[in-house]
Amino acid sequence: MIFANRGIEVKTPDQLRTMRRAGLVVAQMLAATAAEARPGITTAELDSVAAEVLAANGATSNFLNYGDDANGEGGFRGVVCLSVNDEIVHGVPGERVLAEGDLLSIDGGAIIDGWHGDSALTVPVGAWPSGGEALSDACRDSLWAGIAAARLGERIGGISAAIEASLAGTGYGIVEEYVGHGIGSAMHQPPDVPNQGRPNRGPKLTAGMALCIEPMITLGSPANAVLDDDWTVVTTDGSLACHWEHMITVTQHGVWVMTAEDGGEEMLNSLGVPFGPLSD
Ligand code: MG
Ligand code: MG
Repeated sequence: MIFANRGIEVKTPDQLRTMRRAGLVVAQMLAATAAEARPGITTAELDSVAAEVLAANGATSNFLNYGDDANGEGGFRGVVCLSVNDEIVHGVPGERVLAEGDLLSIDGGAIIDGWHGDSALTVPVGAWPSGGEALSDACRDSLWAGIAAARLGERIGGISAAIEASLAGTGYGIVEEYVGHGIGSAMHQPPDVPNQGRPNRGPKLTAGMALCIEPMITLGSPANAVLDDDWTVVTTDGSLACHWEHMITVTQHGVWVMTAEDGGEEMLNSLGVPFGPLSD
């Protein structure tokens, strides 16, 4: 691997194309899991839906057993994080039965030929809970504002500032403790991609970098805590939370959203941002 400044892994075009394949599997997995998210299903059953998509595509999971210690203990048990209502991120699949009006964030990843994909979305279980749809829309909009700020020569701080500006005046909380990240031959790599920040700060975006941008926001205070399972992160005031994430790269032509089925073309066009996929 080639590492540029600050330990940032520089991918070749072929490596990025493999990451795109992983990203498409993740998109398919999230869509299939979201489609089955209905009242009465358990989060363990939803995790199985996601696992089937990975298996059908010859992909492996970068979430399953993440964080295991040397004894194979303590890691994450699931191929997706399923975070419900006041759970912000890292909800562990289990016996919880989803109910009408729950707000569900689904975060999942895939590995193809050693290269990683990672993405998240938020959906209602049946009808949206009060305030949930606007919260999710604002979170998704802020993700795309961050994506739209990405271009060669821009700095990470420009992405962070765009996310923060998109949420300014909404009254929603922005979770500070969990942030976006570089991705490639491992799921979590430098640089951090914070959801708040100032332009012209941080590493410069260069060709061959891949980033996960992932705002997490709350209806109330963004203060949070980790439950006794050592994974699930919840809002301390019990307010709703949501999470959207995409994996992107920036080419000389524009932005390529590797975890969007269309590569981000439609949204980027509507935002007036050049769509810049690598050719096959
Ligand atoms: Mg993720
Ligand atoms: Mg991520």
